[in-house]
Amino acid sequence: MEQRELVIVGAGPAGMTAAIYGRRAGLDVLLLERGLTGGQVNLTEEIENWPGAPRVSGADLGNAFRDHALSLEAEIRVAEVKKVELRGEVKAIVTDKGEVEAEAVILAMGAVYRSLGCVGEEERVGRGVSYCAVCDGPLYEGEEIAVVGGGNSAVEEAVYLTGFASKVYLVHRRDEFRADRAAVSRALSNPKIVPVWDSVVEKIDGDGVVEKILIKNVKTGKLSSLPVTGVFIFVGQAPANGAFKDLVKATEEGWVLTDENMETSVEGIFAAGDARFKRLRQIVTAAADGAAAAMGASAYIKEQLHLRSALLEPESVTAFFYSGADADQARLTDEAEKIAREKGRDLLIIDGYKNARMTRKLGVSPPSVIELRKGAVVRATPVASAADVAKTLG
Ligand SMILES: Cc1cc2nc3c(=O)[nH]c(=O)nc-3n(C[C@H](O)[C@H](O)[C@H](O)COP(=O)(O)OP(=O)(O)OC[C@H]3O[C@@H](n4cnc5c(N)ncnc54)[C@H](O)[C@@H]3O)c2cc1C
Repeated sequence: MEQRELVIVGAGPAGMTAAIYGRRAGLDVLLLERGLTGGQVNLTEEIENWPGAPRVSGADLGNAFRDHALSLEAEIRVAEVKKVELRGEVKAIVTDKGEVEAEAVILAMGAVYRSLGCVGEEERVGRGVSYCAVCDGPLYEGEEIAVVGGGNSAVEEAVYLTGFASKVYLVHRRDEFRADRAAVSRALSNPKIVPVWDSVVEKIDGDGVVEKILIKNVKTGKLSSLPVTGVFIFVGQAPANGAFKDLVKATEEGWVLTDENMETSVEGIFAAGDARFKRLRQIVTAAADGAAAAMGASAYIKEQLHLRSALLEPESVTAFFYSGADADQARLTDEAEKIAREKGRDLLIIDGYKNARMTRKLGVSPPSVIELRKGAVVRATPVASAADVAKTLG
């Protein structure tokens, strides 16, 4: 089977930044993308918040990310990942074009915005229809716009958009918002916000761009029109993680949980970008996550390779396993090293906390001195003091 060091799922800003950092760290990188490279960036006409480029088209930025990754010889392959499986130490990535094994995987498959599905919406995305207030709000300075939805995102983003727009219609299909009380009271006390209750959007209309929306009152059936130049839709966002649902820990909604190094609940599997549980889903945060995930993956891979060659491959090894999370054990390592030096013994020092997987695999409970022959433990001696270490090393 094809074997790679780092496989990245998804070539959006997160995945492509991870590929750039991964290649610069010297890793062999394969980036798998089921569609166009660029991800959601392709849905954005113009981006105004990518640092250093006051105005750049989504397509140009996506292409620049891709060209940068390719210039560093990352491989980008068109393939849809169906699932990732753990096979012992190895991660197997099952795609519609075959299977690949990897030392580490970065999940960067992004998110999808739920659309209304009404007439005129799809063809006006980026031309007045938006799913992102931070991205597009400044384009509506002094204009009248509509926000659709009744949850926290809709209500909070409506308030945010009053910083630009002269009037914000907040269109909701029920007669009260689902958002929390504080957010609702902030919105309803804002003179620029006009709630439009019990209403759904039937049609988004205009000559190429948005000029008005047609709304229907669900109680009376009455149709009316609102003259707006922008429609912000917040009826939900979902992670595109169908293929990884049961692999790593995630929130109830499916957002992947990671630590600050972007590592998931499974060692060697990282997540970056919109697929993660986080507050701000933007290009710049996706790129930052991608960089952190690649550096985390690089450290993990190098550590695994080092451990394998230092611990499992030699004829015979003596190692001191300690837990780096325990100050007393960390102090004992200095003494263990000194004793080994005095006795002329080679002693490998392994942080069992950082290398939990290997520690579990060998059945070691730190602090212990372990003797291995060709990767198999032949003696494991628990040690609590320098005297114990000295006695064990003979
Ligand atoms: C209309 C719109 C406008 C926006 N405007 C801005 C803006 O102005 N500024 C800003 O900062 N942010 C903006 N955003 C948000 C920004 O685009 C996202 O935060 C960013 O693209 C997230 O990057 P990502 O790499 O995490 O995910 P994505 O961009 O979603 O990329 C994920 C990639 O993974 C691929 N993928 C998913 N599943 C699989 C699988 N199973 N196998 C293989 N490939 C897979 C997808 O095809 C996709 O290419 C906007 C978003 C939208 C929708």
